[in-house]
Amino acid sequence: MVQQQLLEKYATLALKTGVNLQKNQALMINSSIEGAAFTRIVARKAWELGAKNVHINWSDDQLTLLKFQHAPEEVLTNIPEWQIAKQLYFAEDGAALLSITSANPDLLKDVDPARIAKANKASGEAMKEFRKYIMNDRIPWSIISIPSQVWAEKVFQDKQADEAVEELWEQIFRIVRVDQEDPIAAWEKHNQTLNQACEYLNKKAYQALVFKSEGTNIRFGLPKGHIWKGGGAKTPDGNHFNPNMPTEEVFTVPDKYQVDGKVTATKPLVYGGNMIDGFHLTFKEGKVIDFEAEQGYETLKHLLDTDEGAVRLGELALVPHASPISQSGLIFYSTLFDENASCHVALGKAYPTNLEGGSEMDDEALDKHGVNDSLIHVDFMIGSADLDIDGETEDGQLEPVFRQGAWAISFEG
Ligand code: ZN
Ligand code: ZN
Repeated sequence: MVQQQLLEKYATLALKTGVNLQKNQALMINSSIEGAAFTRIVARKAWELGAKNVHINWSDDQLTLLKFQHAPEEVLTNIPEWQIAKQLYFAEDGAALLSITSANPDLLKDVDPARIAKANKASGEAMKEFRKYIMNDRIPWSIISIPSQVWAEKVFQDKQADEAVEELWEQIFRIVRVDQEDPIAAWEKHNQTLNQACEYLNKKAYQALVFKSEGTNIRFGLPKGHIWKGGGAKTPDGNHFNPNMPTEEVFTVPDKYQVDGKVTATKPLVYGGNMIDGFHLTFKEGKVIDFEAEQGYETLKHLLDTDEGAVRLGELALVPHASPISQSGLIFYSTLFDENASCHVALGKAYPTNLEGGSEMDDEALDKHGVNDSLIHVDFMIGSADLDIDGETEDGQLEPVFRQGAWAISFEG
């Protein structure tokens, strides 16, 4: 039995530290029906905190699967106007958005990848305006995870369902610090550490980072005026929120035209209900020119085919190999967890807020500064215990940033 008290603490943490819900602010929650018990706790606490409205977008994996199996393509690719309008209604009202997710890595494994790709693209296009609110931090948003039976059984393959779910709750509580006496204070301290790493890197203003490890030898050019971020974000009114729980990363924007070399993924990537594993990509002048995958080659191919920006990078993130998530030694098959256990990059759209003045720039100006645009933003993991990273200064000198998967520098002073 998962302790009620821990669930209550987790719900409070998600509302206060996650989206930082304010009095008289609306809250929109994405949740699966399997997570209804926890979502009801979150909703109750949101009302108690003075939310003016709590709206839930319910989903159900089994119904999603049925739709992918049976619906004509025109239904999968036609996102009704009212669905877009509903999202914008809440965004324009300044609502907070909380996504309560559970991974389901194999859900769509028997569905034609081309169908999935078309559906994803259509929804990406339909939600373009709404996504701007998220990608520019105009509204507070946060993603947290809770176990589902399918997910727990995937992570703990040798355990019985009940036991697996309980074990996954325990891991999540530990990783997001809910097991600590004062999780909110623990997060403040954690955010401070990440902020110090950002300050250090922002002061250095490297023109590139060079990654070397087994299977990886790549140079990521960084645009002038790039900003390292981590440990939360701020809305235009100055309200601090944490987009991801857990988060262990500091991240910036790589120059979309200046990525050269080969990078090998160190963990499987779950995308659109399918798994891509054992893959590597080769970049030239920012563009993927070659790729291979032991598993999920077709899914990866469709992903890269989404649009022009899907073959270029939009994020570069540093995470020490010894993060609390990697210490668990588990593969979570969930990007939210796996990306916070490992250095990673994202194919597709960049966060304009990672560039000085970026959130005020139009698409053309962003492109000029090397900030990528795409319908997708898909992170994949490239960190390992043998990863060395060097920072390249303006005069071409290399300085150690990571050695053997860990920070090579201390941030004090
Ligand atoms: Zn990231
Ligand atoms: Zn990302």
